Amino acid sequence: MQALQKTRAAAGLELVDVPTPVPADGEVLVQVRATGICGSDLHVDDWTPSYAFIAPSIPVTIGHEFVGVTQAGQRVVVRPSVTCGVCTACSENRHDACERRRGIGMTRDGAFAAWVRVPRRNCVPVPDGLSDELAALTEPLTISMQALRIAGDVTGLRVLVMGPGTIGQGIAALARRAGAAQVVVSGFDDAVRFDALRAMGFDALVDVQGQTLAEGTRPHTDGAPFDVVFEATGVPETITEALALLRRNGIVVVTGIHARPLALDLTPLVRNQQQLRGSFRPPESDWPLALALLAEMDAVLRPMVSHVLPLSQAKEGFALAHGKQASKVLLYPEVGDA
Ligand SMILES: [Zn+2]
Ligand SMILES: [Zn+2]
Repeated sequence: MQALQKTRAAAGLELVDVPTPVPADGEVLVQVRATGICGSDLHVDDWTPSYAFIAPSIPVTIGHEFVGVTQAGQRVVVRPSVTCGVCTACSENRHDACERRRGIGMTRDGAFAAWVRVPRRNCVPVPDGLSDELAALTEPLTISMQALRIAGDVTGLRVLVMGPGTIGQGIAALARRAGAAQVVVSGFDDAVRFDALRAMGFDALVDVQGQTLAEGTRPHTDGAPFDVVFEATGVPETITEALALLRRNGIVVVTGIHARPLALDLTPLVRNQQQLRGSFRPPESDWPLALALLAEMDAVLRPMVSHVLPLSQAKEGFALAHGKQASKVLLYPEVGDA
């Protein structure tokens, strides 16, 4: 079958011919319907240092945001984080606390292919009414859900979301649903992803190409500070800008994976008692909730997917995502790819 792989510890990805995987004990074979191109896939393509941890697993098929059908005919989404099954936490059924994970599409073969083998316990059934396109957004939506959880109650609050990609779009939609008084979204040279946000009903959009974040947000806030800022840019310097626009006791939630460190003057943060919080993986129990949210918010979230291309056009899909010419790009394997 065709598979999009990282084949060398260097920049680039390759569409290669590999054998159909054989499931091990406790695993099932999933026929892939659609797989999203994630920002982290772009990092793996570029071979940025924060993804060097996958080097020992090369060659590896990437792709971790996907929907497919098991051989038993069950349509499923698959949690990409594979727990070890043998550590103390796992043996006590506290899988969320496992410290020895492997990532489908990172350190074990993923879903930019016709077939992928996955642990049975990672499969979550997809409700009938939900389209494959929306179901493929489950994994990123769980990341957005976790960011909201880490922030706490946003009811009545003024919220800034930095980064208009899939995670930022999901955060914006969930913050509005949770009752935020205002949701402003910022990006850099991000016309296409702003189009998706506009179609989702957001109009307070700030492009910081050619203006500062402070200048760009002022018309929307009259200069009032934000109560909560979500960072989904992966650009460390945006944290400094966010803190300058955050109220006393306000919260910044960091979700980006940052390719380099940040030099941060902590004194204003201390004096203003601002909270800087990291957010990463949601509990496993969020997955069915994410599917229910996708069904409930179908019409709102649908514009997030801008392109659906065959796997054979992976190069074009990655170029669209890299060049910010797309919102979410999905790839689907064709009959000939199997
Ligand atoms: Zn992802
Ligand atoms: Zn474990």
